[in-house]
Amino acid sequence: MSAQSQTDTAPDIIVGIDLGTTNSLIGYYSDDGPQLIPNASGELLTPSAVHLSGKSDLTVGAAARHRLVSDPDHTAARFKRFMGTQKVFRLGKTDYRAEELSAMILRSLKADAESHFGHPVTRAVISVPAYFNDLQRKATFAAGKLAGLKVERLINEPTAAALAYGVTSDTEETLLVLDLGGGTFDVSILEVFDGIMEVRSSAGDIMLGGEDFTDAVFHDFKEQIGDAARDLSPEQAAGLRALAEQAKIALGSAASVSPEFVIGETSHELSLTQDRFAELTKPLLDRLRRPIQRALGDAGLLSRDLDRVVLVGGATRMPIVRQTVTRLMKAFPEHGLDPDSVIALGAGVQAGLLSRHAALEDRVMTDVSPFTMGIATSRREADGSISSGHYQPIIERNMVVPISRVDTFSRMDAKSNMVIVEIYQGESPRVAENVRLGEVKLHLGGENSGQDDFDVRFTYDVSGVLEVIATVKKTGRERRLVIEGNAGAMSAAEIDKRLKALSGLKIRPEDQSANKVAIARCKALYENSLGAKRVHVEQAMSDFEAVLRRQVPREIDAAREQLTALLDELERSSLF
Ligand code: ADP
Ligand code: MG
Repeated sequence: MSAQSQTDTAPDIIVGIDLGTTNSLIGYYSDDGPQLIPNASGELLTPSAVHLSGKSDLTVGAAARHRLVSDPDHTAARFKRFMGTQKVFRLGKTDYRAEELSAMILRSLKADAESHFGHPVTRAVISVPAYFNDLQRKATFAAGKLAGLKVERLINEPTAAALAYGVTSDTEETLLVLDLGGGTFDVSILEVFDGIMEVRSSAGDIMLGGEDFTDAVFHDFKEQIGDAARDLSPEQAAGLRALAEQAKIALGSAASVSPEFVIGETSHELSLTQDRFAELTKPLLDRLRRPIQRALGDAGLLSRDLDRVVLVGGATRMPIVRQTVTRLMKAFPEHGLDPDSVIALGAGVQAGLLSRHAALEDRVMTDVSPFTMGIATSRREADGSISSGHYQPIIERNMVVPISRVDTFSRMDAKSNMVIVEIYQGESPRVAENVRLGEVKLHLGGENSGQDDFDVRFTYDVSGVLEVIATVKKTGRERRLVIEGNAGAMSAAEIDKRLKALSGLKIRPEDQSANKVAIARCKALYENSLGAKRVHVEQAMSDFEAVLRRQVPREIDAAREQLTALLDELERSSLF
């Protein structure tokens, strides 16, 4: 652990968290700039995976990710996409929602930070994809609360990435940040001048990420296996997917791979070449283009106006992604910082800004609304009929926040006493295709003229919270929006109830330790091997367990290093 100054260890320190689809990280701002905090296994990346065994034994991170193979029924991963939805993940006999699973990750990160600082940590900045809607942002707040963290601010991931780069940049420039993570794709255009950073536009695809590249390979592998692929057990399927992931990563430096996959007593010889990979992922690579074009269009820029293109997210390590971006942008993208940790570093900078860290005092940052928000209106058509369901934007996409805008409306039917103001977010001219956020009922009274009857004010702040105030012009009567009955959102009562349930779950520190990770890796590899290799893995695991029983830390460390090297070797050898 590094030496810490007074400011680092202040009990009210704010941490910055990248709560990723695939991996999560935690950092903070120190006198030396943003720093990342290692987890109990000494790793900076904590896989966003959760394993629950029995009633209350919770494992988070790498050990849990390995259980995806050996115990998929008690393991959950890739749940971030479902934040703010009703979807549940079953772990054993209990159902959990994405915000609860996220809370388990956050609790584990919080514990890592607490053991790093030696005091409680209660305040955090959490990053979210630019395209997270209101429900998903609220769900992220709820997850923080469930983890015992006060979420001081949500920060858009690409903004955080730019902040990590922006802090090291003193020049005047326009940059495009392209973040391809495990499950989301975000593009942002930012302007930096005099230490001020302004987000000009952002766009993205919340259903595109490195996991889709893995899935493409996974499906191809299944086809190669043929009929036998139809009867794969969940464990075998998870093992094959893990193999696809390894193959994808290996193609970063190899021309081809030929992994072996074992089902029962049969071994299947698989193959993946660069050409085949390019063919399989072409539909995914094609989807990189549109968000880039939209972000450029919204900012009123051409790609040649950009000074820098910055790559963020583990999936941008794929050469084929870099080539595609180079072709699209007609420029070679940069990736000066480690693409996996850029966002957490930026969240750490934001945390430093919030706690008014001295080194950051003269930096100002602005953010933009990630989507358009407005209300449903009706319209009288040329033939006199009334058509409803039209969308009237009030705050438009990519306006600098915080922002407050008001528009004036008239009722359609001069005799009616009441209007229902329905609030939506989205980019479609028809409200039916947008996301409904809620409604306010407004009593107009009979005394109105039927013209310019009421005002609707939208105020949107940097955390992505929308306040709607509708005011009757004549009487001054006002209604504030209370978003009710959202299909995905958890109510306060629900949060309290789940909080009680979750506090019964213990994270066992030893489960997170590097030793448990090593054992879990052995089990996963054993599961997917046969014959001599299986014997080899089993022997190595028993030897290691014997060392663990002797409880001599120095011996354990040496043995674990050896075992890890062996596992790396065995996992790699199965690819070629
Ligand atoms: P997220 O922000 O969604 O949590 P990350 O930025 O950590 O995701 O990226 C995770 C994705 O990056 C995964 O799909 C993983 O397979 C991929 N990835 C990580 N390293 C590499 C690599 N060397 N080559 C190809 N893909 C990689
Ligand atoms: Mg990410």
